[in-house]
Amino acid sequence: MSLSAFSFPTAILFGPGAIEELPKELARRGVLRPLLVTDAGLGRTPLFERVSKLIPGAVIYSDVEPNPTERNVLDGVARYRESKCDGIVGLGGGSPLDAAKAIRLKVTHDAPLAEYDDLLDGGTRIGSNLPPYIAIATTSGTGSEVSRSAVITIEKTNRKTVIFSPYLIPSLALGDPELTLRLPPHITAGTGMDAFTHNVEAYLAKGYHPVCDAVALQGAKLAWQNLPRAMDSPLDLDARQNMMMASMMGAIAFQKGLGAVHSLAHPLSSDCGMHHGTSNAVLLPVVLEFNRSAAGGRMGDLSELFGGGDPAERVRELNRRVGIKPRLRDWGVAEEALPGLADKAIQDGCHQLNPRSCTREDLLALYRAAW
Ligand SMILES: [Zn+2]
Repeated sequence: MSLSAFSFPTAILFGPGAIEELPKELARRGVLRPLLVTDAGLGRTPLFERVSKLIPGAVIYSDVEPNPTERNVLDGVARYRESKCDGIVGLGGGSPLDAAKAIRLKVTHDAPLAEYDDLLDGGTRIGSNLPPYIAIATTSGTGSEVSRSAVITIEKTNRKTVIFSPYLIPSLALGDPELTLRLPPHITAGTGMDAFTHNVEAYLAKGYHPVCDAVALQGAKLAWQNLPRAMDSPLDLDARQNMMMASMMGAIAFQKGLGAVHSLAHPLSSDCGMHHGTSNAVLLPVVLEFNRSAAGGRMGDLSELFGGGDPAERVRELNRRVGIKPRLRDWGVAEEALPGLADKAIQDGCHQLNPRSCTREDLLALYRAAW
């Protein structure tokens, strides 16, 4: 048996109204001039106004793209330096929170981003000398606010690149479910399915990790029960709170690993512009079918959690329930694109912990099945 290494050090302040604590939490960390990182869409909302009013001294960087790029990161670093910032606040979904993580890294780490690629063991080059970073999620999906990874598209390769180090965990995750009450339904559905998939893939991932397994099962259950509620009654604070917790639990659990769904989903957003969570939702049933023979009793655990029956079928029902169209072709993915996507998916590290190992041909077959 190989050795297991894990830690659960993320500081989390969670609950309705948690956002009001932001000024105090920055002051506690000695931050007087934070760089507030978000995306252009969010930058125009009342929610953004509410947060920026809480921290009038903040310098704003709001150009993060939906799939954050190396350029976004370098621009953010330039803004940080020219404004003499002393800490970072990330506000948004996974994209601004990941971009903020990478900006924080690059402020004190000089090598090109590509050299921190997890596939090249780049995490070993990352030290603890990072400025304070408070992460505030406005969606319940990636769980980037509690995770130790950032996904950035590197210019040279046009590949979504995972950067991974325990030092990347934000200094504090501020989880305020009130911030998610006005999410549009398709974002609630897509991000919610991302949180759900993190928990399911982490539970099925290879490796000995009973602590992450326990978190993953409970997180999957919370998402399974509460995503439909949040869709039916968007202002249901209890459902929103449970979805935000499911999202955090997914990201805590996936330090164990993810699986083929994520390797297949990453090229769909970098090359086809598909929403990450929606891609996961469409792919999860076919990957569950592929994994059936290798996942042993774990598939039965999922079945029990979903009220019985075939987990793949139950996930298809959940997709229908939350209004996610079931096939890749419904989302404008061209059939001719599939082989090129498979070339990229096999290079993505996530599938290495999939319970059943996959070749490029397997991944292509999974794309075709989902198409
Ligand atoms: Zn994900």
